[in-house]
Amino acid sequence: MRKAVFPGSFDPLTLGHIDIIERALPLFDEIILAIGTNSEKKYMFSLEERLSFLKEAFKEETKIKVTTYSGLTVDFCKKQEAAFILRGLRNSKDLEFEKTIGQTNFQMAGIDTIFLVNSPGKSHISSTVVRDIIRHGGDYSFMVPDVVRKK
Ligand code: ADP
Repeated sequence: MRKAVFPGSFDPLTLGHIDIIERALPLFDEIILAIGTNSEKKYMFSLEERLSFLKEAFKEETKIKVTTYSGLTVDFCKKQEAAFILRGLRNSKDLEFEKTIGQTNFQMAGIDTIFLVNSPGKSHISSTVVRDIIRHGGDYSFMVPDVVRKK
């Protein structure tokens, strides 16, 4: 069974994440959307809210599981018997950052990262920008799915 873990903060889930997840579905038998819990990081949305965005957005998709994890992503992958990590790339900055993490994960555990470049017109979407717009009271609806819009 070809399994991948898509790790992230999803603070909040955006149309950029959804683009990557939907396009990765034909490649895998199962994709585990895994929210990493990091006690040193401050989040805008609570863990429960972020979990519910993912669960609600993919409730019809039988190949997708949603969960949280702490510790190293590779350890979580091994526990889940997932041979792959899935990540999205928006630009060269993402590539530089993701490359070092991907190489480290491969050296540590032999787990390969599969990268998908976002669809045209989606590279400006990011959770950071969504949070900035929310803080300043602007309209962020064009960057997020319905489940987040309703919040
Ligand atoms: P993290 O805090 O680990 O960066 P994120 O939730 O911000 O978690 O992102 C998770 C993954 O989704 C990353 O691989 C990121 O590059 C990807 N991603 C986020 N937004 C987009 C987008 N607009 N297009 C493509 N990939 C994206």
